[in-house]
Amino acid sequence: MKNPVVPSWTESTRNLFKPVIVLVITFAATVKLSQSLYRYNLRRRSRARSGTMSSSSSSDNGTGVQARRRSRILSSKLYFDIPNSKVPLIYSSAYDITFLGIEKLHPFDSSKWGRICGFLLVDNVVDKNCIVEPLEASKNDLLVVHSEAYLNCLKKSANVAMIIEVPPVAVFPNCLVQQKVLYPFRNQVGGTILAAKLAKERGWAINVGGGFHHCSGEKGGGFCAYADISLCIHFAFERLNISRVMIIDLDAHQGNGHETDFANDCRVYTLDMYNPGIYPFDYEARRYIDQKVEVVSGTTTNEYLRKLDEALEVSVHSFDPELIVYNAGTDILDGDPLGRLKISPDGITNRDEKVFRFARKRNIPIVMLTSGGYMKSSARVIADSITNLSNKCLIDTGKNMTAT
Ligand SMILES: [Zn+2]
Repeated sequence: MKNPVVPSWTESTRNLFKPVIVLVITFAATVKLSQSLYRYNLRRRSRARSGTMSSSSSSDNGTGVQARRRSRILSSKLYFDIPNSKVPLIYSSAYDITFLGIEKLHPFDSSKWGRICGFLLVDNVVDKNCIVEPLEASKNDLLVVHSEAYLNCLKKSANVAMIIEVPPVAVFPNCLVQQKVLYPFRNQVGGTILAAKLAKERGWAINVGGGFHHCSGEKGGGFCAYADISLCIHFAFERLNISRVMIIDLDAHQGNGHETDFANDCRVYTLDMYNPGIYPFDYEARRYIDQKVEVVSGTTTNEYLRKLDEALEVSVHSFDPELIVYNAGTDILDGDPLGRLKISPDGITNRDEKVFRFARKRNIPIVMLTSGGYMKSSARVIADSITNLSNKCLIDTGKNMTAT
């Protein structure tokens, strides 16, 4: 016989336990994060000190680094031949992040990449069989820009939790974090690197992912664990006979990762349009931007596009690139809580069209990365913009040809 008291006691206890469990996980994660941050800062300080002390042998080290980098790039499997039947639109189902529902704690729509492709397939912009699937970037590939120490720090879940800004991730075993978070990122990195090869061959390539512009060789942050833009450019230098690259970074946030990696490197020209009142407030990296265009919170579509026109005009007279890497974040959208700008969906379409026209007019291969964009509506906006590029014949997705 059922005791009516027992189920009601069990139910109320369960209800009581839920918030307690959440509190305990959050507390444990916060403690782990603080300890990890402390150790990480100690390591960085000690590395900075030893770097200063060994500066006399830096030129010898520099030659060694170059040789190792070159050998790693030449032995990489990420550049592979793509048949002409494929379109330079790059995506893999391995891009999307699902992590026991925890991914929902971050405002980032972590299935954005799959949803963009879903819209493009439904809208008949591209055939599923024509999409290019990249390979996962291996450790050897990542070491082209990342240090062994940085890659080792990703073996601690607390460090990954800090980088992707989801504290509960700190309490999960690292094998799970590798599989559910870092593996998707490494696939997107493979896509960004491959995109430059495809752009050189076809004139354009879009990686429906990537654009982790806050990560440099030594430091991740802001949801960016790997420096895909820096990697892509180093591969292009070695494998594509390219020596001048322009980064056009139109994500709402400053691209401090690639700016740090290519500080004072005259082979890379950076045009960065960003909101100076939001993350990452990296004042040192700002010194390395070649053309800095600050757009304050509340900037509206017309003013934004006018500033973009002016900036592109200035860049024409400043640099003659052989490749453009376009970081096309959609967190400039009106309503985005992190970007704090007021650009309409049509404004995004116009922005992307302007950048692609800029490249087309000058015959410069262009790589587009989707980067930040934190609202559910971002996927639809990106898909609409890619559709517009196809309709305007600025890209050929295999569909606009049959229509003519
Ligand atoms: Zn952003």
